[in-house]
Amino acid sequence: MRKKIVAGNWKMNKTLQEANTLASEVLAMVNDEVKGDVKVIFCTPFPYLQSVKTIVGNNNRISVAAQNCSEHESGAYTGETSAAMLKSMDIPYVILGHSERRQYFGEDGKLLAKKVDVALKNGLAPIFCCGEVLEIREKGTHEQLVKQQVEESLFHLSADDLKKVVVAYEPVWAIGTGKTATAQQAQEMHAVIRKHIAGKYGQPTADEITILYGGSVNAANAKELFANPDVDGGLVGGASLKSREFTEIVKSI
Ligand code: PEP
Repeated sequence: MRKKIVAGNWKMNKTLQEANTLASEVLAMVNDEVKGDVKVIFCTPFPYLQSVKTIVGNNNRISVAAQNCSEHESGAYTGETSAAMLKSMDIPYVILGHSERRQYFGEDGKLLAKKVDVALKNGLAPIFCCGEVLEIREKGTHEQLVKQQVEESLFHLSADDLKKVVVAYEPVWAIGTGKTATAQQAQEMHAVIRKHIAGKYGQPTADEITILYGGSVNAANAKELFANPDVDGGLVGGASLKSREFTEIVKSI
């Protein structure tokens, strides 16, 4: 059975002290209040990975993730962080292809395929983001584009490697805008992604892939979004910065 996941993408927010407080608060609330079988992931800025990991401790429900990694194994790449470095810190997940990385840092499908490979080679599970901008949705070519994003960066993988990837569908027009995809829009695209994976790898493999929805998820809309059969949880930005709200989102699954 595929995993249910709620991941909080903290982006470039919080001081170290604030990050530690957020992690401690969510940890306590999740330990006390969350009963079901859901994995919670804190996607923290690089400098806070170790500290947040220490706070989380040996917890089989909560994990820590990085928000990016280099496509290179090692070497003269000032300012970059390698997958091997993350692995050596025992970090199990890394977000790759977030729309902010695509938009502001020019990351494209080819580069992301390399990042996916280097992450998997080093034993990290990519949380691979895809999603269309508003213009593409209005043109009606969003399904085609998202299928292409998935294909370009993931379809060279073996089925065994693909099963280690978590896909996050994040319509760019819904990220940080307060505008959420409707539950129906989310379900439709998740079903398209799963069907596309099934077309290449077969239905049993497609059924094992966790597909998260991201884009202005909050405590008020999470339940309806997560109730969809192909929505296996969420990648949450803004609302993951508030411990009570994030915990309520986790409880919505
Ligand atoms: C994100 O950054 O992945 C995200 C979905 O942000 P927000 O929830 O703020 O829209």
